[in-house]
Amino acid sequence: MVAGVRIGPPGPAPVPGPARSRRRFVVHGIVQGVGFRPFVHALATELGLAGAVHNDSGGVVAEVEGTPAAVAAFAARLRTEPPPLAVVERVLETPVPPCGGSGFRIDASARSSADRTLAAPDVATCDDCLAELRDPADRRYRHPFLTCTHCGPRFTITTDLPYDRANTTMAGFPMCAACAREYRDPTDRRFHAQPIACPDCGPRLEFVAPAGEPVTGTEPALAAARRLLAGGGVLAVKGLGGYHLACRAGDDAAVVRLRERKRRGAKPFAVLVRDLATVERLTVVDESAARLLTDRARPIVLLPRRTGAGEVADAVAPGNPDLGVLLPYTPLHHLLLGDGPDGPGPAALVLTSGNLGGEPIVADDDEALTRLAGLADGWLRHDRPIHVPCDDSVLRVVDGEVVPVRRSRGYAPLPVTLPVSVPPTLAVGADLKNACAVGSGRRAWLSGHIGDMDDLATWQAATAAERHLEHLTGVRPQRLVADAHPGYRSRAWAHERAAGRPVDTVQHHHAHVAALMAEHGYDGSTPIVGMAFDGTGYGTDGAVWGGEVLVADYAGFDRFAHLGYVPLAGGDASVHRPYRMALAHLAAAGVAWDDDLPPVAACPGRELVALAHQLRTGLGCVPTSSMGRLFDAVASLAGVRHVVDFEAQAAIELEAQARRAPPGEQGYRFGVVDGEPVVADPGPVVRAVVEDVRAGVPAGVIGARFHAAVADLVVVLARRLRAERGLIAVGLTGGVFQNALLLSATGRALAADGFTVLRHRLVPPNDGGLALGQLLVASLVSETAPGTR
Ligand SMILES: [Zn+2]
Ligand SMILES: [Zn+2]
Repeated sequence: MVAGVRIGPPGPAPVPGPARSRRRFVVHGIVQGVGFRPFVHALATELGLAGAVHNDSGGVVAEVEGTPAAVAAFAARLRTEPPPLAVVERVLETPVPPCGGSGFRIDASARSSADRTLAAPDVATCDDCLAELRDPADRRYRHPFLTCTHCGPRFTITTDLPYDRANTTMAGFPMCAACAREYRDPTDRRFHAQPIACPDCGPRLEFVAPAGEPVTGTEPALAAARRLLAGGGVLAVKGLGGYHLACRAGDDAAVVRLRERKRRGAKPFAVLVRDLATVERLTVVDESAARLLTDRARPIVLLPRRTGAGEVADAVAPGNPDLGVLLPYTPLHHLLLGDGPDGPGPAALVLTSGNLGGEPIVADDDEALTRLAGLADGWLRHDRPIHVPCDDSVLRVVDGEVVPVRRSRGYAPLPVTLPVSVPPTLAVGADLKNACAVGSGRRAWLSGHIGDMDDLATWQAATAAERHLEHLTGVRPQRLVADAHPGYRSRAWAHERAAGRPVDTVQHHHAHVAALMAEHGYDGSTPIVGMAFDGTGYGTDGAVWGGEVLVADYAGFDRFAHLGYVPLAGGDASVHRPYRMALAHLAAAGVAWDDDLPPVAACPGRELVALAHQLRTGLGCVPTSSMGRLFDAVASLAGVRHVVDFEAQAAIELEAQARRAPPGEQGYRFGVVDGEPVVADPGPVVRAVVEDVRAGVPAGVIGARFHAAVADLVVVLARRLRAERGLIAVGLTGGVFQNALLLSATGRALAADGFTVLRHRLVPPNDGGLALGQLLVASLVSETAPGTR
């Protein structure tokens, strides 16, 4: 972000002698809840300046008076030395007549109708607080709610702006005399720290189990929770953005039980790990991964797992080459995993959102008792309300660069700076991995992860998240934008929320490419090549797209090439049963369904007959160019997986096998059929896979050859576009590019050939990042390009 653009008249020239100068500074950015006023106070005091500072809903306002040199020093250091969590976007500076006085005050907050300030995200417990947590002499020793100006809850407890205690869910906890003293002392680390608390005045911890009285008091409640975990139980723990379900990660039976209760299938769990040293024992951690793990946002980081690390049971992430790990980010986490009166805590806990699969995370205390009743054996909770639910964020590292998988806690509601200005707009995202966004001017704010828009609870969560976003940003959308899929619930939700405002639609893959362009600061004046590979997106011809090569700017796109169509028989059935996609691809490639082929063997006889009929007649079939479905098909052909519990499971397992194969495998070759659009024919690849299967080539080698083939296809098509249209910027987007092996191979191959490679780094390549692209396309789409909106 840009710091300190000076606007306003230049300052007066310094005059000799005792002349005084007075200036007013209005600081915009993330400047509330981050210790900005204390910083201003300390700076002004150090420079011997008189004046005052206060928050208003537009930012921080300071007036200082003193010698011109001291005022100039103040102006410079205001921009260059802000506190660690602050983001200074803009400083408006104006001279005002000196009025004398001495001393520097922090005044009460004022309300103004001006542009609203930015709310800060939730931040992990800082080192200073952690030291206090562990210091028996400190009055906050083992206090589960200790925070300071540099750490603790923000976004999830903020009910309104300006960010003051009265506008947080700490409003109901009057400060004790000792806390109030710290709060008022400009030299204290907790000076004006809004969520400040101590054992005397803070929230209360409580352990509740279905049988027996609630256990109150920090140590008894903690001890009960730790006993439950040690005994193999599932604990519901109230966190920053909602309830988690936790159990010991090394306890296979407990993990299996949690999996069954959550109806989670084989979907991997994340693991909360005591410290970085333990993470290094469980997974391969490079420097960039270590940086991410210890970042104050404390995301879940997907890391290559080491085999045979006993702290994590196989059931945690079955068949997955990676393990999602995160480090403790609340004092309560540290108390659960650390040393206690009962000895050392567990080294690693499974930590998963408190919900049934697909539903939004539970944040309300009463709801937690009812909705998690069948899932948890006990509840460790407290009485500080969560105002807005927020799931954990998930990132991965590929070739040293971050790839967001889910952008939520720790990042929401940080804005994304836009390369062009947009009118006030609400973008509602897609149906899976939903996140919405509001945009206005040069900023977009994305909500946290909401979930899959397939049930009423998610619908309500989306409504609440969107309202909160409008509230915190002050953006009042004049128009809405949704995915072009006529059957998407997110689109229906947009129409319900519209109340007479226009609802535009944007083609799915165009939105993916636009999101990537926005992240990389493209203003849309030149198009890029967008490789948009994913599972499903509604195409302008009614087909299910997903293997798309688009030449796109914000205003429109040209579908330069796509993966050849095969029939998708029975929609969801073929998503859940990859053997059906394999059979469709075999049929399309002219390969007979012989019994020796794994998908043929995996398909029940009657289904085989019905499917053959369907594919022959086209009954209940939609053509698809989905790259995600081709990964499924190859996984089934190679015998890796025929039925999935969650989208991309087969592809993830194929990738896992391929990563273990010897490097340097020559890829299969797609056919490239000229035309408008060009068609990438998967037939030759499918036939080559069949040949390898029959020759007994291991699944990992087949997987490696397939990944290489897709990377190679990208390069071949990019070269054609460079030759024909002189384009060199190639964007890799869509959920398929969460595949580390593919992203790495494709990125390297393109870069080696002189292309500029654009990867996601701020929003996910999956549908969680779609709203950002929707915002830009809807705002900038050319009125003369019908059919693209
Ligand atoms: Zn702190
Ligand atoms: Zn207190």
